[in-house]
Amino acid sequence: MKIIDIIKSKKPTLSFEIFPPKEGVVLNTDAILSGLTALKPDFISVTSGAGGGGGRGTLDVAQRIKNEFKTESIMHLVCSGADGASIGDALGRAEAFGIDNVLALRGDRVEPNAEFCHASDLIRVIDKRKFCVGAAAYPEGHIDSPSLNADLEYLKQKADLGADFFTTQLFFDNALFYNFREKARKNDIYTPILCGIMPILSKGQISRMIFMCGVSLPGEVVKILYKYENDEESLVKAGIEYAAKQIDGLIEHGAEGIHIYTMNKPEIAKKIIGASRKL
Ligand code: FAD
Repeated sequence: MKIIDIIKSKKPTLSFEIFPPKEGVVLNTDAILSGLTALKPDFISVTSGAGGGGGRGTLDVAQRIKNEFKTESIMHLVCSGADGASIGDALGRAEAFGIDNVLALRGDRVEPNAEFCHASDLIRVIDKRKFCVGAAAYPEGHIDSPSLNADLEYLKQKADLGADFFTTQLFFDNALFYNFREKARKNDIYTPILCGIMPILSKGQISRMIFMCGVSLPGEVVKILYKYENDEESLVKAGIEYAAKQIDGLIEHGAEGIHIYTMNKPEIAKKIIGASRKL
């Protein structure tokens, strides 16, 4: 089923992101998939490259979610460094396995003058009759972008080229999301925007995110990190409560979807859902 049809019929949607096993690494994929699908998400997205795995691992996990675990899935497809033939091949295999949804991404490697320089180049070539196309959005602007307004121009381009919905990068401050959504609408971008929520699990994880993605930390998160610096259990508990509170606020403000970056931890996703009053 195309995710855009789920979004049109339900508000908010609930979805999860997972990453496939890296080559040569044993990952208990069955336990992760059964734990997450038991929570009845509307769909599960499977990363490509990020966290390891590459295209084939992504497709394998995405098709298992759909065909074995009877839950809708979306395959991330990263275009930087790819050529038309490999993209065509990846899409052909996805279609053969019954995948209906693709998240079109550039990836972090920048390839100037390549066949695919931006996610928009990928969105352009995907057959929209066969696939529902998602794309990435950045409530604080993409880290390479000179400003949020400049980034919004390219977001509009992705929408105009046929992106059916957007999923945001993680953010910790809901006010930044509301500002972004309002600006997107003022720029005539009416595409549904699903909110990406990442639970705080460790100080190291959050430091990496700040520097990799340019995400800002509200005082409340800084206080949690400081207070529980040497108490992992309490940090995770406080992180789950913070994520649940963030989600409840977003739903109260009309969020079209909540997308939890699960980091392959079904037990954390379950606790967030349990702590939320609105999910
Ligand atoms: P683009 O939309 O191409 O944007 C990248 C930058 O280029 C932005 O600064 C934008 O403003 C600018 N830009 C866009 N179009 C143009 C244009 N036509 N001309 C000039 N400038 C332009 N990475 C992975 O490797 N694997 C994954 O599975 C993965 N999943 C992700 C899922 C989500 C929901 C998100 C938010 C990110 C994910 N990423 C993943 C990270 C993503 O690949 C990086 O953030 C990457 O740097 C940008 O990807 P993009 O698709 O947003 O790129």
